[in-house]
Amino acid sequence: MKAVFFGTQPYDQESFEQLNQTYGLELVFQTSHLNRDNVALARGAQIVCIFVNDTADAETIRGLAEEGVKLIALRCAGFNNVDLKAAAQYGIPVVRVPAYSPHAVAEYAVTLMLALNRKTYRAVWRTRDGNFSLHGLLGFDMYGKTVGVIGTGKIARVLIHILRGFGMNVLAYDIRPDEAFAAAEGITYTTLEDLYAQSDIITLHCPLTDQTRHMIDAAAIARMKPGVMLINTGRGQLIRTADLIDGLKKKKIGSAGLDVYEEEAAYFYEDTSDRIMDDDVLARLLSFNNVIVTSHQAFFTREALDNIAHTTLQNMLDFEQGKPLVNEVRIDQ
Ligand code: NAD
Repeated sequence: MKAVFFGTQPYDQESFEQLNQTYGLELVFQTSHLNRDNVALARGAQIVCIFVNDTADAETIRGLAEEGVKLIALRCAGFNNVDLKAAAQYGIPVVRVPAYSPHAVAEYAVTLMLALNRKTYRAVWRTRDGNFSLHGLLGFDMYGKTVGVIGTGKIARVLIHILRGFGMNVLAYDIRPDEAFAAAEGITYTTLEDLYAQSDIITLHCPLTDQTRHMIDAAAIARMKPGVMLINTGRGQLIRTADLIDGLKKKKIGSAGLDVYEEEAAYFYEDTSDRIMDDDVLARLLSFNNVIVTSHQAFFTREALDNIAHTTLQNMLDFEQGKPLVNEVRIDQ
């Protein structure tokens, strides 16, 4: 069975080709992101394999169906970029990699917290330039501080365990709270209102849905503690970026660590260093010395890439062999 990969980077191709020696599928790698204008690249393939910044909206899925595509295989966990109703309408199942390494993302969220807190990125620039002053680098002890965790799924649970190791207090919010987990970790579920009001650090680990889109907006920011640190390794659209910028300018937000960005598809994963940046919002974010923007890299560990390739190829093989699709995304998920 033939699978066309969209949005492929060299490291994707390497990990998939290596593992495919045991799966024996026909893999074709395209660098461009899937969208409604390039569905023809899928011609002759039964499977398309996509990542976070590919677009599988209704129009694109219609085009894929016309090209004879029978399966959409996401090589990521989130599926907000796929119109599941349209896929169901054309009888195209959608599979994903529900968990490839919650450790990778959780550990990266901690990386952002510590880097922002202790300003390590600024310290490195300074010492390279012969500046050994500590002015402006003052941080705080993580121990004893309160962190608010929104969404307590697989990634957040690993993160909470790490943060409890620092001796932090954890306030959690989830639409499906797990009190047994809370008791085991010694954390407290609370309301969003209370989490915003009490937390020194707020970190986002819920999926992007109609309910969570722009949940961090001016009204939410107004309820937060002055100087709060905001971490987003979830999805860019969880935050209304214009409101975040306003909060940063007013010094209400003390710092922000963003591994994802609302309009990231035009920039992330590409080297655009020889172009003039035409996204004024991204340019403004990059201009703050208390903001770290990284290119959706929280997942990017050796272990995660191996697991992604393994699960994705197994999903494809199961489809080819008519086996149950254990990682199928259901519309009500
Ligand atoms: P998960 O499905 O295990 O957990 C998500 C949790 O969010 C669940 O407990 C769910 O009940 C909760 N939730 C759903 N709607 C909510 C709402 N409205 N308010 C509060 N909580 C809500 O998912 P996960 O594996 O922990 O991943 C979380 C998210 O992280 C993914 O959806 C994805 O968007 C993102 N992610 C980012 C990267 C990266 O590289 N930056 C990598 C993997 C995943």
